[in-house]
Amino acid sequence: MPIRVLPPAVAAQVRAGEVVERPASVVKELLDNSLDAGADTITVEIRQGGLELIRVTDNGLGIPAAEAELAFARHATSKISTAADLGRIRTLGFRGEALPSIAAVAQVSLLTRPPDQPAALFLALEGGVVRHREFRPGPPGTTVTVRHLFYNTPARRRFLRSPAAEGQQILHLLWHYAVTFPEVRFTLLSDGREVLGCGGQSDPAAILARLIGPEMADRLVTVEQADLEGAPLHLRAVLAPPDLARPTRQWLFFAVNRRPVQGRLLALAVEEAYRPYLPDGRHPVGVFHLTVPVDEVDVNVHPAKTEVRLRRERAVFALLQRTVRSALLDLAPLPVVSRVTVVEPPAPAAQPALPLSPVPPAARPASPADSRPASAPTTGRWPALRVLGQVQNTYIVAEGPDGLYVIDQHAAHERVRYEELRAQRARGGLAAQALLEPLVVDLPPEHRAVAEEQATTLAELGFTVEPFGPGSLLVRTVPAGLRSGPAEALGALLQAMALGRPPAEETDPLLATLACHSAVRAGDPLTPEAMIELVERLEGVMHSRYCPHGRPTVLRLSASQLERDFQRR
Ligand code: ADP
Ligand code: MG
Repeated sequence: MPIRVLPPAVAAQVRAGEVVERPASVVKELLDNSLDAGADTITVEIRQGGLELIRVTDNGLGIPAAEAELAFARHATSKISTAADLGRIRTLGFRGEALPSIAAVAQVSLLTRPPDQPAALFLALEGGVVRHREFRPGPPGTTVTVRHLFYNTPARRRFLRSPAAEGQQILHLLWHYAVTFPEVRFTLLSDGREVLGCGGQSDPAAILARLIGPEMADRLVTVEQADLEGAPLHLRAVLAPPDLARPTRQWLFFAVNRRPVQGRLLALAVEEAYRPYLPDGRHPVGVFHLTVPVDEVDVNVHPAKTEVRLRRERAVFALLQRTVRSALLDLAPLPVVSRVTVVEPPAPAAQPALPLSPVPPAARPASPADSRPASAPTTGRWPALRVLGQVQNTYIVAEGPDGLYVIDQHAAHERVRYEELRAQRARGGLAAQALLEPLVVDLPPEHRAVAEEQATTLAELGFTVEPFGPGSLLVRTVPAGLRSGPAEALGALLQAMALGRPPAEETDPLLATLACHSAVRAGDPLTPEAMIELVERLEGVMHSRYCPHGRPTVLRLSASQLERDFQRR
């Protein structure tokens, strides 16, 4: 289709808005144009994080000389012509706004040659107006050079971050395009240095491994799923196992009908499916290519085209979760012990063995809620384990259908207690038990103010306290099931309150503190009944593979590894 200015009625339906916010948005628009032109080799060159220069060179179809100037007119596009076309967009661009928007805020030049044209046309623009036009020798394809972005709009320049930060965004954008179009060769040069070079492959997994690191190479799995109810939805996903999760969210990439999108909701679906397998602060790694009928996705919702609206959002969400969950079941057995160590026989119990839920002698339960065993929500996905015994008064050893399991009794109990406390809190407050004798606790000065300010929260957590003279508190109730001394637990809680809650943390640090102080410790001898109870309760909770602080609760020595190491095979 030749480039034409859209009729006003069609242009009016195009989602207006600012296309050019920062260097990365310029790069994005130029990449879209190159891909729409069928390029399979694209080089991006930036200087000073794109603030000084952005140049995108492709080997695509080029723009015929007669149309090149028109490409810089508002709403001029070769990709759609009618309002109906807006409902079936197959190209990345469609609004005819990128080139004029960029040319309005930077010094732009274009060098473009369709393969059947003998020479390339060169245009140089200033303030959106063509200042120079000539034919030059040049290879087929198109090069757009953007210099001094926002040179004429200093207010917008002020919103930019450092060249390094802007450059980082461009790099991340290229990762996204590279995993979405694995067959296209992408190169990114930053201040003359090649910072990315990949492509020419059919498999997004190969690209992802290349971007992240060799440890991914043979660990990534590709799964495909379709939802055939109604018009078909299809998902192709590349997933990393949970042990290769990353400390940042930047390694999840989504594409809908081969359009790179942010997909906040899609990311939520994936993160949720991974959550039981990941310690806090770790995020999944994966590439998700969704294919949906073209009339079920609205691309025209956001000026930067980075979000789309899906007509059957719920079905897509469910498809994603289903796919990821089932892949993870295969992919993420419990952490496997990678080296065999000699298991020492349990040390003779020096202290009498404890049952799991003692009630402190000087206390009576104020609420029975805590003494109930955890009712099991279903998602633990644990094999049934048979407890064999305790090692070093610290680990519970158990047998499962596929090997030997070693459970860290403190980490496991901490997780169980954490989930119980969370459930109690959701029901309105933690179960408390009254002390027969109120206890006077001396506080260090830094905790006094916290204790006063947070008296209500303390009460919700089971600690009823009153000021008692200067620098002391009277403690009347404590959370049910506390194992540490009340003063010690209260001190730890006030400490956690003083630190506040880190915004990105999913674990509630106050509940984690209480869980820690109401869990059995390493070194506590346990009765066989207590061990069985603990393992059963662990089987029932979600997130059971890690304690609230992110340590694993269970390790597995697989049956096949035992066989191998004993040279039975
Ligand atoms: P849109 O991509 O929405 O059509 P643009 O302003 O980005 O709008 O581009 C205008 C037109 O210029 C495109 O429709 C296309 O015909 C042409 N064009 C832009 N960049 C390229 C390129 N790299 N290769 C070939 N044609 C291009
Ligand atoms: Mg475009």
